[in-house]
Amino acid sequence: MAIDPLATRARAPLPPWTPLVIAEDKCKGCELCVAACPKAVLALDEGVVNRLGYHPVRLTDASRCTSCAFCARVCPDVVFTIYAPLREV
Ligand code: SF4
Ligand code: SF4
Repeated sequence: MAIDPLATRARAPLPPWTPLVIAEDKCKGCELCVAACPKAVLALDEGVVNRLGYHPVRLTDASRCTSCAFCARVCPDVVFTIYAPLREV
C-alpha cells in the first residue's frame, strides 16, 4: 500500500477564529454600523485616527458577536468581512 504524503505532512496551526475583520483604513466613522448592531459590540476607537482622518470602528466584544452581518450590510464603505459562526461538532 502506498503512503499518502499529504497524510504524514505536519499541519500548520489554524489562526484564532474571529467573527469579523475590520478594514480600519477604509472606515470614515459614520457610526451606521454602531447603530445597526443588535448586540451593541461596535464602537469608534477615539484613541486612533486612520489615514482618512477618522476614528475607526472597533469590535468591543468578539464573544458576543453573532456574525449576523447587519454591520456589513449598512456600511457604505465595505469595511467588514464577516465569517460564519463556529459550529459545535
Ligand atoms: S456581525 Fe452582527 S453582532 Fe457582529 S458586530 Fe456586526 S452587527 Fe454586531
Ligand atoms: S458603517 Fe462603515 S464607514 Fe461607517 S463607521 Fe461603520 S465601518 Fe466605518
